[in-house]
Amino acid sequence: MDDCIFCKIAQGKIPAKRLAEDADMLAFPDVEPQAPVHVLVIPKKHVPSLHDVQDWSLVGRMHALALKVARDQGIADSGFRVLINTGADGVQTVGHVHLHLLGGRTMLWPPG
Ligand code: 5GP
Ligand code: ZN
Repeated sequence: MDDCIFCKIAQGKIPAKRLAEDADMLAFPDVEPQAPVHVLVIPKKHVPSLHDVQDWSLVGRMHALALKVARDQGIADSGFRVLINTGADGVQTVGHVHLHLLGGRTMLWPPG
């Protein structure tokens, strides 16, 4: 997708600190962090939302990469949250599926 921010980040056309990646996915810090650690994990391939996932192993591997980043960031033992906002009520604002990794403080529940 030519006009997709996260495709551009995956392709290196928009700068982001590449915290972890493999052939299929990339982790980078959220530009507006909502917690001391706030990292996004995306597939490098354009997939608009969770509705559009076909290869479900990808979603599992996104979680595995998030756990690696949590360990790297030192929050694996204190705890963290992963979530995927989907659609209007889920307040998905970027139309390229992404997993949020949040931690470094107590993550209140419900989030609001
Ligand atoms: P959503 O609400 O779609 O689940 O979350 C989108 C997230 O992407 C937001 O937390 C927002 O701060 C982040 N974001 C939007 N544009 C950029 C960008 O250009 N770079 C980075 N690193 N994060 C972005
Ligand atoms: Zn995209």
